Amino acid sequence: MNAAPATILRQHLIDPEICIRCNTCEETCPVDAISHDSRNYVIDAAKCKLCYNCISPCPTGAIDSWRNMPADRAYPIAEQLLWDSLPGQIALDQGGTTGAGTEVGAGNTAGETPADVAQIAAASTAGQGGTAPPPWSAAHPYVNLYGIHQPAVATVSGNFRLTAEDASSDIRHIVLDFGNASFPVLEGQTIGILPPGLDANGKPHHVRLYSVASPREGERPKYNNLSLTVKRVTEDHEGKAAHGIGSNYLCDLKKGDKVNVVGPYGTSFLMPNHPGSHLLMICTGTGSAPMRAMTERRRRKFSAGESLGKQMLFFGARSSGELPYFGPLTKLPKEFIDINFGFSRVPGEPKRYVQDLLRERGEDVARLLKDENTYVYICGLKGMEKGVEEAFTALCQANGLDWNSLRPQMLQQGRYHVETY
Ligand code: NAP
Repeated sequence: MNAAPATILRQHLIDPEICIRCNTCEETCPVDAISHDSRNYVIDAAKCKLCYNCISPCPTGAIDSWRNMPADRAYPIAEQLLWDSLPGQIALDQGGTTGAGTEVGAGNTAGETPADVAQIAAASTAGQGGTAPPPWSAAHPYVNLYGIHQPAVATVSGNFRLTAEDASSDIRHIVLDFGNASFPVLEGQTIGILPPGLDANGKPHHVRLYSVASPREGERPKYNNLSLTVKRVTEDHEGKAAHGIGSNYLCDLKKGDKVNVVGPYGTSFLMPNHPGSHLLMICTGTGSAPMRAMTERRRRKFSAGESLGKQMLFFGARSSGELPYFGPLTKLPKEFIDINFGFSRVPGEPKRYVQDLLRERGEDVARLLKDENTYVYICGLKGMEKGVEEAFTALCQANGLDWNSLRPQMLQQGRYHVETY
């Protein structure tokens, strides 16, 4: 008599070779099935409900990895934590299931996402805080062109301090030139930097992500370059001393230095391209990087005489000296962009956050929100998200709108994009 075939589990895993350890999946998982140590991000098969909420936000696709396993032999967390690469598909001989080396179902980190995963991931962005699809008129982004085993090598062509000499933060505008290598990026995308050297466990440092701060044609048009906005990290969120590996490496780079770059990443936080589209941008500190990319793209169009939709920017920093791009921003024509600065640490003045400015400009913000051509971008400190949501709720209420129903609608239409850390 034959033994009953073991139940086959479609085990959800994370590819350690592609994962950039950005923590997005762990933050997204509604059942706390994802955890990490200093080496790997892993998924607990006993907790994972296959809800797919984590698939779409993952910038690299490392999360979209699957193996068919007998249910009683699922890879335990302890084993996943030791992996340097994903094991191949084991041979399954019960009940006519897959043979050795065959991938089944929704798993394919290098190729396209199978239809069922794409469908479920898209549905999960529609209404409950997930990632929005890109604006309908966004250009098609390239992603994952360079991985950690074959990074692009860029040359530093500039490293300039953006903050005042006496400012508490050292924020830098770093220009990377790709020479003859093809590294196409769109405004709102991120790239990964591989800091040289090894971590405390003797492993290569994991990838650090930075938003591109220049438009698609390059920091300097007709040059194959891009820029980043990087703050030297010397303390953690609680103010305790901490040495940021990636940020200190980047901030110390000299002209001519070589940098290993991976990516690009990001298929959602992209700008619309259709005429008459409006941008409502809200950022704090170095969260201004993607806003700088978008406004610079539009500034070039404006200078060339093109007619554009509205641009409204809410920008929070400790003081004007701590605000990256303060000088150039103040020189932009009023008819091009409506800028609102909020400073939080100016001696003798009350603390003002971006959410306070949004309330003050409530009528104008609501007018923009009423327009289906308006696209909202929020980037910067995690803590600002709650305050901004509350400000939207209040200003909508005061101006005949219901934020609770507008928000999911905008999210579904690719008109509400949030990137906070
Ligand atoms: P920061 O200087 O610490 O803060 C910027 C401003 O935000 C300050 O005025 C600060 O006020 C204010 N702020 C603090 N809590 C707030 C809250 N709950 N609501 C609204 N405003 C608040 O900022 P930063 O160090 O540059 O950090 C920017 C963030 O952007 C980082 O988390 C970074 O990871 C992220 N980011 C960076 C990039 C990049 O490419 N570089 C891209 C995307 C995101 P206080 O005076 O009260 O502190």
